[in-house]
Amino acid sequence: MATKQFKAESKRLLNLMINSIYTNKEIFLRELISNASDAIDKSYYRSLVDENVSFNKEDFYIRIAADKENKTLTITDTGIGMTKDELENNLGTIAKSGSFTFKNENEAKEGVDIIGQFGVGFYSAFMVSDLVTVKSRALNSDEAYKWESKGVEGYTIEPCEKNEVGTEITLKIKESTDDEKYDEFLDEYKIRSLIKKYSDFIKYPIKMMVKKSKLKEGSKDEHEDYFEDETLNSMVPIWRKNKNELKPEDYNQFYMDKHFGYEKPLKVIHSSVEGVVSYNTLLFIPARAPFDFYTKEFEKGLELYSNGVLIMEKCGDLLPDYFSFVQGLVDSADLSLNISRELLQHDRQLKFIAKKIKEKIKSELLLMQKNDREKYDEFYKNFGKQLKYGVYADFGSNKEVLQDLLMFYSSTEKKLVSLDEYVSRMKEDQKFIYYATGENIDKIEKLPQTEVVKDKGYEILYFTDEVDEFAIKMLMKYKEKEFKSVSSKDLGFESDDKESEKETKENKELFDFMKETLNGKVKEVRASNRLKTHPVCLANGGELSIDMEKVLNTMPNNQNVKADKILEINTNHKMFKSIKDAFENDKDKLKMLSNVLYNQALMIEGLPVDDPVEFANDVCSLIK
Ligand code: ADP
Ligand code: MG
Repeated sequence: MATKQFKAESKRLLNLMINSIYTNKEIFLRELISNASDAIDKSYYRSLVDENVSFNKEDFYIRIAADKENKTLTITDTGIGMTKDELENNLGTIAKSGSFTFKNENEAKEGVDIIGQFGVGFYSAFMVSDLVTVKSRALNSDEAYKWESKGVEGYTIEPCEKNEVGTEITLKIKESTDDEKYDEFLDEYKIRSLIKKYSDFIKYPIKMMVKKSKLKEGSKDEHEDYFEDETLNSMVPIWRKNKNELKPEDYNQFYMDKHFGYEKPLKVIHSSVEGVVSYNTLLFIPARAPFDFYTKEFEKGLELYSNGVLIMEKCGDLLPDYFSFVQGLVDSADLSLNISRELLQHDRQLKFIAKKIKEKIKSELLLMQKNDREKYDEFYKNFGKQLKYGVYADFGSNKEVLQDLLMFYSSTEKKLVSLDEYVSRMKEDQKFIYYATGENIDKIEKLPQTEVVKDKGYEILYFTDEVDEFAIKMLMKYKEKEFKSVSSKDLGFESDDKESEKETKENKELFDFMKETLNGKVKEVRASNRLKTHPVCLANGGELSIDMEKVLNTMPNNQNVKADKILEINTNHKMFKSIKDAFENDKDKLKMLSNVLYNQALMIEGLPVDDPVEFANDVCSLIK
């Protein structure tokens, strides 16, 4: 019998498969099962359009049989089957439906990547098998044909016996090697787990005769083996079920079965969307960040199904980075396996779904923030940072999406509040959204810079995460209200500003002397408009705040940036009298005082003292 040649590009793909550059060989089973399921779909369709074809649900199934002795794995379906021509055309050529074209070797290498992620079809059988036999009898045909191939050399086709309509594919499983245990594909346990993993939700039953054990009749302890036909897949995916049929436990169980996490999820989002692109999603917000969440090992993504068939375990394109904590899956009939062969990144449907998912997650989070604040607090504790990074990242291009989800600790409410809540209760004369930065809430509470803002009765947002101020700088405004650090030069209190300006002018010589003494460490020394009881503080002269300076200088290859610092003196404080006194009578003492006050202000900011020994000596001399 003549051996026929594969078409050129088929040969190339086959070569890839046979040489198994791709390590995830187990997906061959998914591919063959999904073809079987497609074939049954076609029969079903025919029964709808052709009254001579009947569709009896019980007659349609897929069967798996493993023969360990002969090392064969057989996948049988009762689908539409293939005629001689179809065997030739469909299996001899790489599926016409696919857009797999290998123009040159380089692209073929990229192709390996595609194989890793998407459906690769029938030829994947050659990853685990060195002889593939396909017997098929097409619907409404009396003849059956056998297609057989050992790989690249080609294939043969000849008539054969087959009583039922459908296709039977037998894989002679390769011999195991040191690296590769092909034998395991003949293990019942392995087959079961592969079906659970990839094909659980195939609409038709996937059956297998499985070995069971029971007590021997008449015996109390002797067991005997027997075989029983079992359906290995659950057929109806939870996400296709009606929400009303499902209880929280069902979702939680599914969540655990899927190994998404050990604890039940904080929030389940289950939706079914019909429209331009139809799809089902089942999304979870975990109760806790996965242990590797803030490392670069963490990989975001949702499972992607096409009509119940898993085509990708982690589709990163479905989630924006700032929602990378979301887990779950998407199933769409509009993403056929044909489409899956293309690079999904460029897929319009997928982009559309990703956009909708993003909007859905946002709206669900907003609802939670509004209606279930305790839960939202819990969520925010785990993932708030991610949202804030999201505002900052990509030059702020996502700030519109995220700003309403942000929360910060409030000086007046003593809990996390949203920006919307803050703005809605701003005082009539209040111009800015005030914030203060520091290591923790207690430390911020004590910051001298907060005194005057609190005194006015204004609410202050406390920023304790390093990213906070960076994110807010990116935001700039919320609902037309600008953000203002309590340490910034101009706080927007006009009458106070006039007062302190006057004081600064009056004491110009004194302040200039202090500035000289500090020798470039501060940009300016001036009378404060923000201090009530504290003697000194630092204020920001420019855009870069002292806290941002701290953060930036902890980064690798830091540029040693410096914020413009202003030393502010409380001219109403009684120590100011001593300063004036020293200015008149004892310039050396004023030098010491200047240094001590400056260092004191540094300490309040949580910055290290410039020269601790000198500082200690200065303090001692002043005590004398
Ligand atoms: P795809 O499924 O994406 O079309 P495959 O390489 O998996 O690509 O399959 C190629 C073609 O072979 C299918 O389109 C189908 O026409 C045919 N085929 C494969 N398996 C079967 C089967 N079990 N029953 C009927 N036709 C099949
Ligand atoms: Mg296929």
